[in-house]
Amino acid sequence: MPIIISDSQVVRDFVQKVEEISGEKFSKCMQCGTCSGICPMGAEMQLSPRHTVLMTKFGQKDRLLDSNTVWLCASCHSCLVRCPRGLDLPKVMEAIRQITLRTNENYLEPFEIPDELLEDLPPIAMVSCFRKHTA
Ligand code: SF4
Ligand code: SF4
Repeated sequence: MPIIISDSQVVRDFVQKVEEISGEKFSKCMQCGTCSGICPMGAEMQLSPRHTVLMTKFGQKDRLLDSNTVWLCASCHSCLVRCPRGLDLPKVMEAIRQITLRTNENYLEPFEIPDELLEDLPPIAMVSCFRKHTA
């Protein structure tokens, strides 16, 4: 699917902010797609890891925040281990999550989790999930 980027969609502050929080430079990425191929969550993500780097590099804040990608990232570090350019994509994912959470917006509302699900979920998984998905 072609990706069309217009200048009006580019949020330049966003690029700087993600680079500042993650400590990563997007110019490192050569768009090889290794990260997308290795990602265990890739099939469920609306934007692949490779696209996430590309969209971040071009300041596509709304597209990134409208997708489920950064929230589904399991921080498993497989992409970092295999990236030929050593780009720390898990840190980039975390930086984008932080930008959202710092606006006091939850991705997941704890009180909306159905009771029947709460009974089955291990407490450690819930704590981990709340730390990642709530402000
Ligand atoms: S593996 Fe690294 S260089 Fe290749 S697309 Fe992913 S982030 Fe870019
Ligand atoms: S750290 Fe996230 S993006 Fe990278 S391979 Fe694991 S789940 Fe995928």
